[in-house]
Amino acid sequence: MKYYSTNRQAPDATLEEAVVRGLAGDKGLYMPRSIKPLPASFYEHIEQLSFQEIAYQVAEAFFGEDVPAETLKQIVYDTLSFDVPAVQVKDHIYSLELFHGPTLAFKDVGGRFMARLLGYFIRKEGKKQVNVLVATSGDTGSAVANGFLGVEGIHVFVLYPKGKVSEIQEKQFTTLGKNITAIEVDGTFDDCQALVKSAFMDKELNEHMLLTSANSINVARFLPQAFYYFYAYAQMKKLGKADRLVICVPSGNFGNITAGLFGKRMGLPVERFIAANNRNDIFYQYLKTGKYSPRPSVATIANAMDVGDPSNFARILDLYAGSHEAIAAEISGETYTDEEIRQTVQQTYEETGYLLDPHGACGYRALAENLQPGETGVFLETAHPAKFLQTVESIIGKEVKIPEKLQAFMRGEKQSVPMSKEFADFKEYLLNY
Ligand SMILES: *Cc1c(COP(=O)(O)O)cnc(C)c1O
Repeated sequence: MKYYSTNRQAPDATLEEAVVRGLAGDKGLYMPRSIKPLPASFYEHIEQLSFQEIAYQVAEAFFGEDVPAETLKQIVYDTLSFDVPAVQVKDHIYSLELFHGPTLAFKDVGGRFMARLLGYFIRKEGKKQVNVLVATSGDTGSAVANGFLGVEGIHVFVLYPKGKVSEIQEKQFTTLGKNITAIEVDGTFDDCQALVKSAFMDKELNEHMLLTSANSINVARFLPQAFYYFYAYAQMKKLGKADRLVICVPSGNFGNITAGLFGKRMGLPVERFIAANNRNDIFYQYLKTGKYSPRPSVATIANAMDVGDPSNFARILDLYAGSHEAIAAEISGETYTDEEIRQTVQQTYEETGYLLDPHGACGYRALAENLQPGETGVFLETAHPAKFLQTVESIIGKEVKIPEKLQAFMRGEKQSVPMSKEFADFKEYLLNY
C-alpha cells in the first residue's frame, strides 16, 4: 500500500517510510491510497469472532500487502492482550471501555501496535538502534513508553515538563527502566516539543543516530484504532442492538474518531458519529459554520482533549473530499463546559452507579441528549476515571479505588534525567548517550 500526503506536495511513501517519518515531507498527514471494504460475509458472522480475530482482518486490509500474514497476526494478537468490553450504562447507552490496557487509556492500542510494527521493520532491515523521541504532557508519554518497553532495537526518550504532570502520570513512564529514558525538562510542554523538533532538524545529531517520532499522527498509531469500532459493532450485534448504531467519541486531536470513519468506509454499519468536545470546540464550530478556525487551546478538566488545532482534521477533510455537507451528514458535534462535565459525572454516578472519567462524560452526555428512538449509542470511554483521581473524587465526594495496575506504577521508583530547556544541552546528552 502506498501512502499519500494530505498536502499532496510530497511523493507517496511506503508503509515503512510513513511509519518511520510520521509526518510527510510537506507537513501533510499520510493517508492510505485505498481503503478496502471488507466482504459482506465478514459482517454477517462478526459476532462469532474474537476481538483479535476481528482486528486481524481489519489489519490485513490496511497492512496485508506490506507485512507477512504470520507477522501481522502476531503483532495484532500481542497488541490486543486486553479486552475492550461494551458495558451498559443506561437504557440504550453503552460504554466501550478502552481502559483495560497497561496505562488505562485507549492510546495503549496505537502505542503497542506502532512499537511492534516498527520493531518488525528494524529487524527486517537489520537497522542499528532506532531512537524514538516523544514530548508529552501526560498520557501520550505513558502509552508510548509502555508500548515500546522491551522492544528490541528501539530506545525511547520521553521528554516531559518538570512539575507539570500528575504523579500518577509521571510514574507511568519514569519507573520503567530498560529501553525507556525519562527526561525531566526544566520548562513547559512547549519547550519539550521544541527540543524534539530541534533534534529532528539537527544535521549532526541525525548523522550520529537514527531518530524517529511516535506522535499520534503516525499511521501505525492511528489506523489500529479502527479495530475496536468493529469489535463494538460485533458486541452490539450479539445483543441484537446493532441495527441503528450511533458511536460517540470524546475528541481532541481527532485521531480516534477518524479511525472510526475509516471503519465506516470499510463497510462497518454505523449509522452516524458524534464528536464530543470540551470547551475547545473548533470542530463543533466547523460543523455549524463550515469554517475551520483554529485557536489557542484552553485548559479544561478533560485535559487530553485540550487541542486548539486538531491535526487529524486534515484527514477528515481529505476523506470527504473537502465537503462540509458530506462531513456534517455523518458526524454531528457537541461541546461541554467543565461545569457540565462535572454535573454529568456526578449525575450518572448517582443514577446508575457508573463512574465516568471527564472525557467519557462528554461522550455519554452527547448520546443522552441526542439519541433518537430506535437508536443504540456506544460512547468510547477513553480512560479509567482513576487516572483523573483528584478531579473525579472532588466531583463525587468519595474515594475512588485505584486499579492494581496503577498502584503498581505508584510503587515503582522514579528515575529521570534532569535537563535544561536549552537545545545545546539536550544535543550534548544525546551525542554522548
Ligand atoms: C488522547 C485522548 C483523547 C483524545 O483523543 P483524540 O484521538 O486526540 O481525539 C480523549 N480522551 C483521552 C483520555 C485521551 O487520552
